[in-house]
Order: sequence, then structure tokens, then C-alpha cells
Amino acid sequence: MMDNNVDDYCFFCKSNNSKLLFEVTDIFNDPYTLNQCDHCHAVYLSPHPTEAQLDRAYDDTYYGSGTDKFNPIIESVLDFFRSRRSSFLRKQLYADARILDIGCGNGRFLQYLGKKGNYELHGIEREGNSASRASQIPELRLLVGSLKQATYSSNYFDAITLFHVFEHVDNPAEMLDIIKDILKPGGVLVMSFPNINSNQARWFKGDWLHLDPPRHLFYFKPDDFIMLMKKRGFELVVEQYLSFEQNPYGLVQSILNKVSAKRELLFEFLKGNKSYIKDYPSYKFIFHLLFFIAFMPVAFICDVLEALVKRSATIQLTFIKK
Ligand SMILES: [Zn+2]
Repeated sequence: MMDNNVDDYCFFCKSNNSKLLFEVTDIFNDPYTLNQCDHCHAVYLSPHPTEAQLDRAYDDTYYGSGTDKFNPIIESVLDFFRSRRSSFLRKQLYADARILDIGCGNGRFLQYLGKKGNYELHGIEREGNSASRASQIPELRLLVGSLKQATYSSNYFDAITLFHVFEHVDNPAEMLDIIKDILKPGGVLVMSFPNINSNQARWFKGDWLHLDPPRHLFYFKPDDFIMLMKKRGFELVVEQYLSFEQNPYGLVQSILNKVSAKRELLFEFLKGNKSYIKDYPSYKFIFHLLFFIAFMPVAFICDVLEALVKRSATIQLTFIKK
């Protein structure tokens, strides 16, 4: 993990030459800035959050303390998207492929995939309630912790996936080296993450939902990342900007963040994080919910239009290892 909170260097290339972009405050009221690295162009959170700050950010209120992270209605919407993701990946796999989902959460994406073929399913999740939920899935080979060198043999996996996980890791360059080693030549790598070149990032800056400070540590503009991966021996095969799972809600919550006293109030309310919302008058959530219902259709249309010009809030990239 990171040494202390006075460091200011790029999470990706470790250079300490950067320029300040804008300021951001996390849900605990701790201030940071977003800086762009002069060397590799990654945009990163500065100073690096301390271990104590990260432990607090990944406590039970992050994973949800019940059977699921969200309430049943939201979980069933998420299950729909998990199932769709598994259908997308299945099209690229052989019948007996080995798959690793890094940051597998409750494991349900892998579980859906397992229903579609005779796959060897592996997941990694950091310790917490999500990992406990994933451990209940018998067909899933779960590693609780993080990906390390020599955890798996070289050229072992046919596919590796990281859905909104990469931006959370504090050793991204090392992680890409390990992924390159354990993925077979011709293997598929699917990654999704926030698009720092999106309209939402440009419009809302520190109020943007997908900054999620202090959990998201760094970002790349899609073109910079695609170039970086090309140099590392990965060829881009699919580039997807449209995401009804991530982008429309990002717009709604970012607007609410702009006009509210605290960030992510509706999101934490929907997650049932009582300690976070306790000081906020409950009648105000009626306005948040009404705005959410009224504005979502507009937000869906925005996502369709933004996807056409590659300015959507998040991106999913599929690479083949050469
Ligand atoms: Zn850098």
C-alpha cells in the first residue's frame, strides 16, 4: 500500500511532475486534487490516500451489510447487466475456457457465465462482505486478497475481466504486467473504467459521481490508454462507450452533487448507508428521488448521443494479447 499522505506521484509511472486539474472532496470531507502526470498523462488523486483513509472507504457501508450490496430492486437491475456482460464474453470464448474476474464482487457475473458453458471460473476479491457472498458460489474458485506475481501460472487464462476495478488498484502498471503474463497469447482482456475525457468529467469536475474519491486512484483518457496497451502488446478489438448501467445515473447523481451540501447523498441513501445520510432531512430525499425519476429518460438520451462522439462517462475496452 501507499507510504504516507505527503506523496504526490503518478500511480502509473511514478513520475512526480504533474499539473493540477481541479479540487475534489471525498464523502468524509477530506480534500484532494486531481493532477495529470506530465509523463504518461494519467490523471491521479493527490495526495495518495492513506491506508486508514482507504480502510474507512471500504468498510461495511461500501459493500452493504445485508445479503446484497443494494436493495432487491436495484440488485435485479444489476443482475440484468451482469447477465448481459456474461453473454458478451461468452461469444469470445471456447467451450472449456479458463476465466479470471479481478474484483469479482459478489461473483454473480461469473455465476451467470458458468450457466452458459463448461468454464473454469476464477475470481479475486478483497476481504469484505462481497468476498463472503462470492465464497457461497460453489463453482467459483475464489482468491480473497489481491493479484500477485506467481499466484497463477504463465499463459493460464483464456480471458481476464476487470469491470470498474482497474481505477481502484494502487499498482496498475505491475497489475498489467501480471495480466500479460498469466493471459494466453490470443486471450481476451475486458476492462471498463470511468472516462476522464467524458462530458460528465468536464462539466462536473469535483462533483462527478465517477470520481468516487478516495477509492478511484487514477484515470486515463481512452486514446492514451489504448496507445499504452498497444505498446504493451495488446490489440484493441472492441471499444464500447454506451452503458445504461453506469452513465445515465452518473449524470443524475453529478447534478445532485452540484446542488447539495454533500456528495452522493441519493446513492448512499439507495445503498442504505444510514450513518452517511443521518444529518440530511429525510423530506429532501423525496426531491432527489423525484428528480431521479424525471431526469433519467433525458440522461439515457444523453448517453446515446455522447457515445456517438466518445464522450460517455465510462468506457469498456476489449483487447487481445498478441
Ligand atoms: Zn504517469
